[in-house]
Amino acid sequence: MARLEILISGAGIAGCTLAYWLTRNGYSVTVVERSGSLRSSGSPVDVRGPAVDVTERMNIASCLREVSIHPKGMTLLDSGGRRVARVDIAALRSSIAPKDMEIARGDLARILHEASANDADYIFGDSIKALTQNELGVDVIFERSRPRRFDLVIGADGLHSIVRRLAFGADSLFVQHAGLYAATISLPGSSDGEGEMFMLNTPGKLAALHPCQGVPLAYFIFWHPEIPEFDYTDLNQHKSILDRTFAGIGWRVPEFLDAMRVARDVYFDSVARVDVAKWARGRIALLGDASSCVSLFGDGSTLAIAGAYELAKSLMESPADPQGAFSRYQAVHSKLVASKQKNLISTASRIVPRTSAGIWISTRVFWRTMGGLGSVVRLARKLRGK
Ligand SMILES: Cc1cc2nc3c(=O)[nH]c(=O)nc-3n(C[C@H](O)[C@H](O)[C@H](O)COP(=O)(O)OP(=O)(O)OC[C@H]3O[C@@H](n4cnc5c(N)ncnc54)[C@H](O)[C@@H]3O)c2cc1C
Repeated sequence: MARLEILISGAGIAGCTLAYWLTRNGYSVTVVERSGSLRSSGSPVDVRGPAVDVTERMNIASCLREVSIHPKGMTLLDSGGRRVARVDIAALRSSIAPKDMEIARGDLARILHEASANDADYIFGDSIKALTQNELGVDVIFERSRPRRFDLVIGADGLHSIVRRLAFGADSLFVQHAGLYAATISLPGSSDGEGEMFMLNTPGKLAALHPCQGVPLAYFIFWHPEIPEFDYTDLNQHKSILDRTFAGIGWRVPEFLDAMRVARDVYFDSVARVDVAKWARGRIALLGDASSCVSLFGDGSTLAIAGAYELAKSLMESPADPQGAFSRYQAVHSKLVASKQKNLISTASRIVPRTSAGIWISTRVFWRTMGGLGSVVRLARKLRGK
């Protein structure tokens, strides 16, 4: 039997993981990525539980651990930049979830890509333009490459998936703005000797600094109703929105805005939920944020990695029945997704309180409780001699 040819749209976290497992299972895989190269921006993301198991099976867990980030603590600042509360992240993490990893998104994408780069055919700087399917295959027209026919097409192209738009319907049917926008910017040349995260809240806004690994990252998160003219690809528009929204805030925010003005790769997007009732239509299926985004505070990367593994496993179990495989993949993976999606708004409200009263409550309830917990864990570890 000829090797099935599968096209994956998107060389992100989900797409690269899927490419690894499909090539390993004997499929011929092409990955088309809109960007000219792998994108390096984005905040650190968590690789947790089921995704850690998948990376261990891929033999990349040790590479990921080498580049993983270990912030010591998370300090809350008041509007003048003074420290008001602290959580001992290192202690909490090592006792609650010692195998979980925090990794710069760019490093995670690079390592996942390297794992499949020799076996899958990666096309950068291109995108699918049209899709037509029948019971035998999917005809694909690209923006640049020559048209081709594939057995299956997987949309792993994120929140703004072109595969979803072409094969399932307009974004408005599936994408719901969660009320926030988020941006991250690397601060090259900046140093951070403390290994500490800093967060400053003003009503409805959060500016933060993450130590990353030598190249600290500035975060901007803010509540805002959907901006009708928002274009997730328009860097100049992003810069002027951030400039406007964070003007007049103290601490290191003016320095972050300066870095943002000259940055060439800024991650800026709306925080959104994606809900697609059925993740497959015929020979075309969706994966990762394209099917079920939980962006920002959810576990988008964990879900992307775990979902890719589940999809590849289902296809392997019934290669001649892709529709059956797609249904099994959704039946299993949607349970994990649902458990994460429901926490989005409550987590957002805790981390970015909308009012001064909300900041006051969050400082006293959330921060002080977590801070106390961290101290107890650290003390217990000391007593146990660890
Ligand atoms: C550059 C970048 C930075 C990010 N930073 C953060 C962050 O700071 N915080 C956070 O919570 N989440 C961030 N995310 C989203 C996060 O990576 C995902 O929520 C999560 O990892 C799920 O992964 P995914 O593979 O489904 O989607 P993604 O990781 O978003 O990957 C989707 C991929 O598809 C590509 N793509 C998009 N459109 C097309 C197209 N038409 N044709 C071909 N390829 C296409 C994208 O360039 C990207 O490489 C970021 C995503 C990107 C792309």
